[in-house]
Amino acid sequence: MKIIKKGQTAWTNRHDTFTEDIRDLYELGNDDDAYALDSYNNATQGFMGLINEAITMQTPLRALGAGWSWTKIATVKDGIILDTKPLNTRFNITAASLRPDYTGDPKYLTFVQSGMSVQELDDFLFSKGQAMKTHGASNGQTMAGAVSTGVHGAAFDFGAMPEFVTGLHIITGPNRHVYLERASRPIVSDAFITRIQAEHILDDNLFNAALVSFGSFGIIHGLMIETEDLYLLDTYMQRMPYDDSDSGKKLKAIMETLDFSNAELPCGNERPYHFMVLLNPYDMAKGAYVTTMYKRPFVSIYNKPKENDAGIGPGDDAPAFIGLLTDNVPELVPTMVTKILGANLPLSDLDPQGNLIKQTGTIGEIFSNNTLRGKLLSAAVAMPVSEVNRVIALMLQANEDFGPFAGLFSFRFVKGSGAMLGFTKFEDTCVMELDAAYSPKVYDFYSKTWKILEDEGIPFAFHWGKITELSSDRIRRMYGQSVDNWLNLRKQLLDAQCLELFTNPIMLEWGLA
Ligand SMILES: Cc1cc2nc3c(=O)[nH]c(=O)nc-3n(C[C@H](O)[C@H](O)[C@H](O)COP(=O)(O)OP(=O)(O)OC[C@H]3O[C@@H](n4cnc5c(N)ncnc54)[C@H](O)[C@@H]3O)c2cc1C
Repeated sequence: MKIIKKGQTAWTNRHDTFTEDIRDLYELGNDDDAYALDSYNNATQGFMGLINEAITMQTPLRALGAGWSWTKIATVKDGIILDTKPLNTRFNITAASLRPDYTGDPKYLTFVQSGMSVQELDDFLFSKGQAMKTHGASNGQTMAGAVSTGVHGAAFDFGAMPEFVTGLHIITGPNRHVYLERASRPIVSDAFITRIQAEHILDDNLFNAALVSFGSFGIIHGLMIETEDLYLLDTYMQRMPYDDSDSGKKLKAIMETLDFSNAELPCGNERPYHFMVLLNPYDMAKGAYVTTMYKRPFVSIYNKPKENDAGIGPGDDAPAFIGLLTDNVPELVPTMVTKILGANLPLSDLDPQGNLIKQTGTIGEIFSNNTLRGKLLSAAVAMPVSEVNRVIALMLQANEDFGPFAGLFSFRFVKGSGAMLGFTKFEDTCVMELDAAYSPKVYDFYSKTWKILEDEGIPFAFHWGKITELSSDRIRRMYGQSVDNWLNLRKQLLDAQCLELFTNPIMLEWGLA
């Protein structure tokens, strides 16, 4: 493995919202002149060497993905952070790598190295006529970074990215690396384990704990993921009344039940693949912005998605443009929010008959954003879908009482996660996202919002990679017994030295060490 010690003593996240003092940043890379598997195995040895060195130096270590998180989870004060982005190889899987009793088709399994970006994997899978089952609205994250915080889109009948992971190859110490799978769903053969020279552990709880563990279970080197045949998404964005109480079958009811049987959406009552609702608190009269996407078999000729005049495509979410907002003059916030949304959101055009015109693309074409305009904040909390309308009423009231909030309220729907600390933890989860201007007033609004949710007894959990206000107590209220289980499983996997090595200050603050 190539290791470039950058001599860097400060690190700033992608959003420029914090800077951490570090001891150094090491940029890692695969050996170009070795066979892919040899290079992968050399990197395993390289990681173990780095862990050994860090133990000798008594310096904490943290794997860094693309640095897109707002929380200080990808960094460690006065420690060494490992830039894993260039570790981006991948392997097709053949039957020899699978157990004889595995009934699935090996072509739908791909073993990816941790630093491969979502975009790189989209491109690779496209080349073999396949696609990921879901991903977030943007595609700049690394696979390990995205899975480690539970990144989600709005595939509400599937779930978030961790749900398509079936195996994790983790470097856990100076002399140990393990391949974790669920005992209830073993997939790989001994031959596969021999090839990557790992120790095989089959354990549902350990796997589920490591799946969303934000760098604290060691260094994830490879992930086995399940894919599917390439598909297209027919996408629409329209404005609809949020609360049409004259009719029992409208948006508000759908959001709370995910029952589309009486829906009046672009494809009638067909159950969409993706469902997202965005509310501008300053323009409710004109309705919510509703995005629906329907999955279709791939065909080679279709009209590719186009960006609108503001450069925003049909799958982009607010972080692509919300950095244009400020709340320096509170009186102007409502007008600014409405103006910026109006100019940026890619509402579907209408044909001469007044029907919405769809935009079609692969998942990689629809969710393709990785550029940002301006500094911004984003917080996201998961809650049961049954609470969503109660929460919307509280949010609108909070905006009256403590606003104006320089941002918008958006709601994506996602199936519950199998990860022990997956934040999309409710069987039917709604993730409320509060994307907003970078400002102390927004932080204050966030704080008041969490307090309101707590006072109202609404169960919720924070996205690990977005703005949070977590404490040990809050985490225990959110995850209950799972916290102790997760801590015990971490202790089971890592020895005392490595527990310390992979602990950073934010985990201590959160009571997760
Ligand atoms: C513009 C924008 C849009 C976004 N859209 C979405 C969205 O649609 N949905 C959503 O859910 N989130 C979204 N997010 C949040 C973001 O996707 C998550 O914070 C994600 O975790 C970032 O991935 P990353 O590769 O940058 O990881 P980082 O932020 O670098 O790291 C995240 C965590 O993963 C750990 N990690 C990284 N690599 C490894 C490894 N090899 N081994 C062990 N641990 C590792 C790090 O230590 C850290 O704890 C968005 C963020 C931005 C900036």
